[in-house]
Parts: sequence; C-alpha cells; structure tokens
Amino acid sequence: MEKRFVYADNAASTAVSERVLNAMLPFLSESFGNPSSIHRQGRDARRAIENAREQIAECLNCHPSEIYFTSGGTESDWWAVTGYAKAQYEHGKRHIVTTAVEHKAVLEACKKLEKQGFEVTYLKPDGDGIITAEQVENAIRKDTALVTVMYANNEVGTVMPVEEIGRVCKEKGVCFHTDAVQAVGNVKIDVKKQNIAMLSLSGHKIHAMKGIGVLYVRNGTALEAMITGGAQEKGRRAGTENVPAIVGLGEAVKAAYEDFDGRYERTVKVRDRLIDGLIKLGGRLNGSCENRLMGNVNVSFEGFEGETMLLLLDSKGICASGGSACSSGQTEPSHVLTAMGLTAEQARGALRFSIDGGFTAEDADYIIEAMKDIISRLNKMKGL
Ligand SMILES: *Cc1c(COP(=O)(O)O)cnc(C)c1O
Repeated sequence: MEKRFVYADNAASTAVSERVLNAMLPFLSESFGNPSSIHRQGRDARRAIENAREQIAECLNCHPSEIYFTSGGTESDWWAVTGYAKAQYEHGKRHIVTTAVEHKAVLEACKKLEKQGFEVTYLKPDGDGIITAEQVENAIRKDTALVTVMYANNEVGTVMPVEEIGRVCKEKGVCFHTDAVQAVGNVKIDVKKQNIAMLSLSGHKIHAMKGIGVLYVRNGTALEAMITGGAQEKGRRAGTENVPAIVGLGEAVKAAYEDFDGRYERTVKVRDRLIDGLIKLGGRLNGSCENRLMGNVNVSFEGFEGETMLLLLDSKGICASGGSACSSGQTEPSHVLTAMGLTAEQARGALRFSIDGGFTAEDADYIIEAMKDIISRLNKMKGL
C-alpha cells in the first residue's frame, strides 16, 4: 500500500480550518486595536468579539451575555468547579458530585477542593462508560454544591445522558456544570432544554486555535471571578481579550453546526468501517456502541503495548493516541478505561483514533492495513 499521511487524533487537537484562519487574519494585521479603546480600531475589535459571542450563544441556545472567553477547556473547567464551590462554601454546601472518568482539569479541581474541606463523590461508570441520571440523583445530598459530569468522554467517546442529568439537578435545585469540550460540534446542545448552568468548550478541538475557550455561565449563577484586574468579561475574567482567537472560535462553532446532519452521517459511516476492520483484527471496542461520538474509535489489542503500536503507526504516517494524549510518556493505564472495568492489560493495549469530517474510507482502510501489518510483526517478535 502506498504510504499516506492520516491524521486521526482530532480529540487531542485539530488543524485550524481555512475558514477560521481567514476570519482571524484581519485581526492579526490591520484591525489590531485594543477592544477597550474608544477609537475606530478599538470599536472594530469590540464588534468582532461581540459577534463571536453571538455566534456561540446561538449554537448553545443561550444569551450572548452568558458567554465568557477563557484560555481553553482546562481554565473553563477549573473556573467552573472551584469558582462555584468557593461561593457555596459559606452557605454550608461542601459536597461535589462528579465522575471517575472526567478530564484531569475537573478531577484536579475536585482534588484541590477536597484539601479545602469539600467532600467529593466520584461516580463509577458502567462498562460502556455511562453515568446514569439515577446515579447522580442518588448521590445528591442536602449539602451538595455542584454536579459536574462531562458531556462526552475524550477517550472512549461515550455521550452521557445529559438531559436526564440536567432534569435531576433541576428537581433537586443543584447547579449543573458539564465539560462539553468533546461534545461541541459533535452533538446538538441546548443549555436551556438540558438545564445546564455552566458549560466548558475549547477552540483547538473544533478547528480553532489553541489557548482559547469559553465558559458559558447562566445569568444569576453565583460564580467567583476567575481573574480580576480589569473590566473585561464583565470583570469576571480580566485581561485584554485575544481578539483573533475569539473571532476564530466564533467562526469554528458556527461552522461545526452547519451541515451537521450530513457530516454526522458521513463520519459515522467511516467510523464504523474503521471499527469493524479493527475488530476483525482481534480488537475489543471500548465505550458505547449507540451513545458514541461520531468521530471516536477506541479499540484495545490485549497483549500489546499501546505505546509500541503508536510508534509503529507513526512510522506509517498515522497519528493516533493511546488512552489519552496526556497519558503518553507515563505507564499508568488510563483512569477512564480502568474505571470502566478494563484490566490493566486491556487498558495498556488501547488505541484511540479520532476522526473529523475530512476522514475518508481510504484513510480507514489504510489504518486497518497498517494495523494488520503491525500486529503480525509484533506477533512474530513475541514468537522469537
Ligand atoms: C482537551 C480537553 C480539555 C482541555 O481543553 P484545553 O483547551 O486543551 O485546555 C478538557 N476536557 C476535555 C474533555 C478535553 O477533551
């Protein structure tokens, strides 16, 4: 087979799309003014920021005044969890409900709160990685300050029953935050219908820049400021705005919901072609079949090291990940896969291919051929 370059690591980061780049370029050159300035340059920049805010609000079904720009998913998660908990502490609410499969940004924020006197319940998923609304309901107590459950998992692509969880939180009167970094553009989101009070999203997972993100905060939510020292973002997240990145993010979110159904159908088709091919080679699918992100393929090849397979894939021009990008360089099996009940062996042999709308059937076949070759090579080495 002729060597190709296949990028299948979109859950780790995506390329900035041409459309996003073109939207950003004027704000890197002629329209460079400070959005707080009163002159025309400043007003142009301000208008561009407010336009991006409107674009994002429209896709989430919220008011533009509820959109706060941050440096990315990690900051948004950290801000939502620690900033809301701190404001609740004095009211005697010192309990947090989260899950064992969250991104480290949420888990580390919860760990910090534990040191400050909070109690945290880490819900365990089922074998598919799903957390049920019933589990959340049973975990909520009188002193629960916050429920934070991710919308879709970054490793195995499992989509959580967010609407049901939102309903439970509403009934119990508890604030609900969701890390939707992997969900935006892949799932239709409606913060009103789903009763989401806070939602994190990130630019570089949806073809915008690294270092830009959003925290949606429902108006009236008692959230402490992230950074003070200026009037930007209503004084809750001070600092001169990253205008080009913000403009790009607005365009990226908008683009992610155009031709949604068509892209969904095409992507699921090639995703399943890749899954079927890898299962035929002896792989075990991790995560849910039905409640799965359109671009996620996570398969374990038991008895093989993920790192070794990734290096061999790389030599064939294929970019993929193990359990998660953050785990490369460390030998610990993924916390997500082990929470789902996989053995350490199964977790170590996990590969994640995350595809976008540009991924083709030829790309899928190339990966399958490459994996066939890699497995037979590794088997031969084992026999020696
Ligand atoms: C990537 C990711 C983050 C972190 O976002 P950054 O913008 O890279 O800081 C948080 N949560 C999930 C689920 C992610 O996939």
